[in-house]
Amino acid sequence: MRSAPRSLLAAICCAIALASPATAARLSAAQHAETLAIWKKMVSIPTVQGRGQMPVMADYVADLLRKGGFAVEDVIVEGSGDATTVAARYRGTGKTGKPILLSGHMDVVEARASDWTRDPFTPVEENGYLYGRGVLDMKFGNAVMVFTLLKLKQEGFRPSRDIILLLSGDEETEMLTTQRLAKQYGVAELLLNADGGGGLLDPQGKPVAFYVQGAEKTYADFEVTITNPGGHSSRPHADNAIYDLALAIDRIAAYQFPAQTNELTKAYWSATGKLVGGKLGNAMQAFAANPDDKAALATLRAEPEYVGITGTTCVATMLSGGHALNALPQKASVSVNCRIFPGVSIESVKAKLTEVIANPKATITTLGAPVASDASPLRPDLMKALRKGVDLSFPGLPIIPQMSAGATDSLYFRALGIPSYGVIGMFIKPEDDFSHGLNERAPIASIDPALLLMRSLLLDLAK
Ligand SMILES: [Zn+2]
Repeated sequence: MRSAPRSLLAAICCAIALASPATAARLSAAQHAETLAIWKKMVSIPTVQGRGQMPVMADYVADLLRKGGFAVEDVIVEGSGDATTVAARYRGTGKTGKPILLSGHMDVVEARASDWTRDPFTPVEENGYLYGRGVLDMKFGNAVMVFTLLKLKQEGFRPSRDIILLLSGDEETEMLTTQRLAKQYGVAELLLNADGGGGLLDPQGKPVAFYVQGAEKTYADFEVTITNPGGHSSRPHADNAIYDLALAIDRIAAYQFPAQTNELTKAYWSATGKLVGGKLGNAMQAFAANPDDKAALATLRAEPEYVGITGTTCVATMLSGGHALNALPQKASVSVNCRIFPGVSIESVKAKLTEVIANPKATITTLGAPVASDASPLRPDLMKALRKGVDLSFPGLPIIPQMSAGATDSLYFRALGIPSYGVIGMFIKPEDDFSHGLNERAPIASIDPALLLMRSLLLDLAK
């Protein structure tokens, strides 16, 4: 996924562009052109699950890196079909400790040519945008990481620690390759993910803020089931699985998980509150200062865009029950989808649902195998490096930490205790975010700030 901060701009009424639109630093035309060429080539490979193209993409990247000076044995293409991965090690001097990981995914969401205005796998430049499936999510990020590594190699840069590029093959679906990569490369100082974070432009194209994604909520589904001996519907009685379930659903609907903040969401509320202003902005700032502020909490929880950042949420999503029109139900069940605040265990949420439902006849099961994800700390070295890297293009632009509701590859690395940050320098307007959707497009002008940022981060964090 790509977690674009689209929601924020909708709430900003009269945002003053705090940064100068002029880019402070410039790249050579050649660097811009080479990155664009890699980006387009990647988009032209239809890496949709089931089309057998992941190995083609992996070989393309591996070939580029080897031709650019990476040792053959340092670029590992593993697995087959959609489960293909790339791991490329940029060897450091070993002066400092654990490696820095660069994370991306090669796969894209399906795109049917018949639904699109242009062929989704023929990259087209138009009015400053590149069109094609995956231009945003996330072949831009892959191109930026690959080009940056090639350029640093060409210049003879020797990092103090290893930098390892990890490209997964099934982030949009099973995430099995992510789990494998996390197992193999799960000892690292930190991870930079090009699939999260990013810059926000106002409708006039001026940058408003840069987001660093430092946390994701944990995704978990539960099923609440009530069973009953049933019987003939001509002999009804109060003991009814559907009535019991309806009561349970009522209780879930009425329950609110406690308000929560962490270092990251506090910084988010406080900075976003200043940008948004008005009643909503004031509530954000009040909530940042005091999560017990009931009025502020009520204001934020009334907004679908923001309720998820205030704590854990659970909501009924699917329902089934009964087996015949003329029989008392023997079984009724509801699926409950929870988005759990970082640091809260999946088991404790299940226990809370059990307590809220308060019916010993109800059984609650966890669906699948959810993985909890903690928030990454706002490391001073990372924040300082980001400040420097963003300033190269947009001096003084606010940098705002962000927690996303969806999952990226960072999930499995955070679960191993590796601080992980979404930091791609793609600057877009909210109305330009069509990731996963039709006619996906991305502004080509993002190449320069993104290259400057990625390069600066690596030079700083692996110096
Ligand atoms: Zn993605």
